Amino acid sequence: MSDIPLLPQVRAFLERDHGLFIHGRSVSAQSSQRIEVVNPADAQVIARVSDAGEADIDAAVASARQGFNAWSQTAPALRSSVLHKLADLLEQHAEELAQLETLQSGKIIQISRAFEVGQAAHFLRYFAGWATKITGQTITPSLPSFNGEQYTAYTLRQPIGVVVGIVPWNFSTMIAIWKLASALTTGCSVIIKPSEFTPLTILRIAELGIEAGLPAGALNVITGLGKVGQALIEHPGTDKVSFTGSVPTGIAVGKTAFGANLTRATLELGGKNSVGFLPDVDIDKAVAGAIEAGFLHSGQICAAGERFFAPRQRIDELMEKLSQRLAALKIGSPLDEGTEFGPVTNRTHQHKLGQFFERARAEQCTIVHGGRLLDREGFYVEPTVILARSLDDTLLKEETFGPIATFLPYDDEEELLAMMNGTPYGLSASLWTNDLGKAMRMVPRIEAGTVWVNMHTLLDPAVPFGGIKASGIGREFGSAFIDDYTELKSVMIRH
Ligand code: NAD
Repeated sequence: MSDIPLLPQVRAFLERDHGLFIHGRSVSAQSSQRIEVVNPADAQVIARVSDAGEADIDAAVASARQGFNAWSQTAPALRSSVLHKLADLLEQHAEELAQLETLQSGKIIQISRAFEVGQAAHFLRYFAGWATKITGQTITPSLPSFNGEQYTAYTLRQPIGVVVGIVPWNFSTMIAIWKLASALTTGCSVIIKPSEFTPLTILRIAELGIEAGLPAGALNVITGLGKVGQALIEHPGTDKVSFTGSVPTGIAVGKTAFGANLTRATLELGGKNSVGFLPDVDIDKAVAGAIEAGFLHSGQICAAGERFFAPRQRIDELMEKLSQRLAALKIGSPLDEGTEFGPVTNRTHQHKLGQFFERARAEQCTIVHGGRLLDREGFYVEPTVILARSLDDTLLKEETFGPIATFLPYDDEEELLAMMNGTPYGLSASLWTNDLGKAMRMVPRIEAGTVWVNMHTLLDPAVPFGGIKASGIGREFGSAFIDDYTELKSVMIRH
């Protein structure tokens, strides 16, 4: 097969002189610094965007403050209908957005279509539904009444203000949508700072936001390096940061936010997620499970499994069958609809994965399958299976964020639980078994924000998502996100 043809509107978008999206339109940045956007499939520059400066950041924050004043006063039903309209527009522009996303991230086109656009629209509609369902409580205080006076109290949930949404490169469209939808449905305005590697789709989506009916300033997009994110958090005109990214950056973001007059912070960080196969598991289901957990989007998913624990008597068979499946994957261009496994998103990340392979060899782990960078144009690495020697091996401790499944055998259930929990992180974990009773007893003992049984990686907007331990603070989705985007005000009345 060969690459699908690019839509004319995709070519036209790439050729544009990209500005920043401030106050309802694309404006040229005052900063002259530019960042190259590179196609991971062939290492060619496809566009250049601005690395915003101080004056640009001031302009975006001023616009977002104005946007907040307007948007927070709109009726919840109107907010809901604008977000529904934006979801419609995402679907109407689905192929255009999916192609742009694949060009900037190297994600295979089916994943761009299904997740970055299809799921993003689905999540957006879910958030849109919340706009009309945000409520406080009424409370009867027990204060003394000397002259017949009575008391009534109630709480209001009010939008927090101007939200800074900082987005990583792995799901640059969907994660941006989670952030802007959470902010906009609660009545906040938002400034999105996409990753410097993948800034294009959100610039296009901001234009669709205006078409959907967002007032100028409700949604701004500022491109640039990490320092732009930091300056936005430090800015006195912003009220909250919602950050998704790596643990070290997340800790820096948390410190910056607390140092900036306690700017509120939601931190969705990385992990080192465990996958536990119980002794009764069917081997074919275990192999499919390992693929689902570790290799979707080349493992570049925060919730992906990286630490795989299998019963000692079954581990060899499992790794062998998994290796056979990986060997049959069609590796190729992400714009080819037949491709099952594409490049990783940038050269730095490809090199980092190469260093992990070297570390594994230096620590005398067994490379069961893969373990090399591919010698071809673009940023390709082999899907890899590794047998570690102990829990102290680097590949069982550090997040690789790549297509690497590292295995270790265990002998009994208590050892499995200790291994699964033996990490400072706690984003997600999964158990694979036919014995649901056993799984139900183990689930409460697993230290992770999300535990899956016989599934891994898939998220649903109705189910809260976020990390415990060093994997984050706060929750996205469900009703849980509302607490993070609103302030609770108590009102007491004597009458
Ligand atoms: P990263 O931490 O390097 O960057 C994330 C974003 O932060 C980028 O937009 C970057 O420009 C910005 N940034 C960098 N330094 C900053 C600073 N000092 N202040 C403010 N912003 C700054 O992460 P990445 O490499 O883009 O993404 C991969 C990481 O993201 C992985 O660790 C992965 O696990 C994590 N992730 C977590 C989730 C989740 O929901 N928990 C989802 C996706 C990715």
